[in-house]
Amino acid sequence: MLKCDLCGRRAVIYQRFANRHLCKRHFVEHFERRVKYAIKKFNMIEKGDKIAIALSGGKDSVTLTYVLHKLYGHRNDLEFVAITIDEGIEGYRPPTVKIAKKITKELGIEHHVVSFKDNFGMTLDEMVKIGEKKPCTYCGVFRKYLLNKTARELGCTKLATGHNLDDEVQTILLNFLQGDIARLARLIPQRVQEGLVMRIKPFREVYEKEVVVYGLLHGLPMDLNECPYSHFPVRDVVRDFIYNFEEKYPGRKFSIMRSFEALIPCLKQMFPQIELNKCERCGEPTPKKVCQACVLLEELRSKLGKTS
Ligand code: SF4
Ligand SMILES: [Zn+2]
Ligand SMILES: [Zn+2]
Repeated sequence: MLKCDLCGRRAVIYQRFANRHLCKRHFVEHFERRVKYAIKKFNMIEKGDKIAIALSGGKDSVTLTYVLHKLYGHRNDLEFVAITIDEGIEGYRPPTVKIAKKITKELGIEHHVVSFKDNFGMTLDEMVKIGEKKPCTYCGVFRKYLLNKTARELGCTKLATGHNLDDEVQTILLNFLQGDIARLARLIPQRVQEGLVMRIKPFREVYEKEVVVYGLLHGLPMDLNECPYSHFPVRDVVRDFIYNFEEKYPGRKFSIMRSFEALIPCLKQMFPQIELNKCERCGEPTPKKVCQACVLLEELRSKLGKTS
């Protein structure tokens, strides 16, 4: 039996970056400390905040909901609501919507399910059949649109997402490798923009594996299925590279994150916040005249007109 390096009890995890085994109690303590550290470091949660949790029902967002409720649910000066976007992906989304309903009911968190079908007249599956763009393009644009709109309409001041250290580091490196520094700048935490609910990522300091272990140790419902449209060839290469790099040189994911953080002041200078306009069609914030969601929707509707 492998033992906890701190207390000698049965270990539940080996933290390669720290070269130590931890028991359930010490691992949970450490995990929650990292989450609180990230939250404090970027002032993610402030007095009076109403926080919308983007709850897809996948492992990261379910664990995020549980942890935020555990660490901050007792605070009278904070409010939490959960928003689940149902894109309409047959076979994949319904079970996670069920999980989202279950966990919010158990924790007593107000929950809103918002669907593509109700808001745009078609599911993602239907969009994919009609349109020529990649599924993730429709999904990403419309999901972000609905999350922001719903959170704002509910009076939320923050929108929490379940992105973990692995997700963030992959995106950072991917943007570097593709020379897309403008996109890199979008990862700067705490960007205030008119009409956009500020996004926070409380899991940015914890490994993906740790999120899974934390969730399993707490008996949280975990749907580990992959979206049928999930196809990220370039990101997969970057992910595998980081995985191998971390295996050989533990702790490098943190190094990549720290390098990015050191660049934040320069990125802020290079890419100052631009004033956003209100979309001419729907009124949502956009750097252009018409928002991307309205552009895509118009394309899809015109194709639908031609096919019907
Ligand atoms: S992988 Fe699936 S859920 Fe994720 S953005 Fe693409 S279509 Fe949407
Ligand atoms: Zn221990
Ligand atoms: Zn619009």
